[in-house]
Amino acid sequence: MLVRWLTFWLIRYQELKRIKMNLKESIRTIPNWPKPGIMFRDITSLIENPEAFNQCIEIFKEQYQNKEITKIAAIESRGFIFGAALARELKLPLVLIRKKGKLPGETISQKYELEYGTDQIEIHKNAINEGDNVLVIDDLIATGGTICAACKLVEKLGGKVVSVAFVIGLHELKGKEKLQGYDIFTLVEFKGE
Ligand code: AMP
Repeated sequence: MLVRWLTFWLIRYQELKRIKMNLKESIRTIPNWPKPGIMFRDITSLIENPEAFNQCIEIFKEQYQNKEITKIAAIESRGFIFGAALARELKLPLVLIRKKGKLPGETISQKYELEYGTDQIEIHKNAINEGDNVLVIDDLIATGGTICAACKLVEKLGGKVVSVAFVIGLHELKGKEKLQGYDIFTLVEFKGE
């Protein structure tokens, strides 16, 4: 019995490793965009590949289907793509976290630091209720500023951030250090290559 169980998980582990390698290869890197020194990780090449996009959502689904999540909060704009597909799969409400001035209803907002200056994101006041278990999702974590602000918005409305999920983690920018105490899930990591 134990041997069978171990064999199953070994095969699954190897399969996941292969899928993640394929996913990583499906992400295009554009050096020096939008400005010199930035390695832009472009998920448009991933979503243009139906197999890669499907695998990506399937892994997220497997990760979160039994976690008693009540809502998915997705961050503008590329987070919407993955958040929407996953919300549909898990049959969960999708909440949008948007840049300042884009949401039509009553909102609360949160400032966060950029490399130069600050930015602001917002959420509808009635989008999260006290006691909601929320998964917050974006395409990528770099410095971690955006996701931290998004988590604060959810928490200000009484929601609990059950986990934060990303397609891409940028190892060198140490964004994950800002997320101590949160459950973090990334599909692929880039380490400067
Ligand atoms: P940060 O707040 O620094 O973690 O930045 C995360 C947000 O900025 C995400 O919504 C990403 O879409 C975007 N972003 C930051 N750095 C990159 C990058 N190198 N490639 C693609 N998107 C990026």
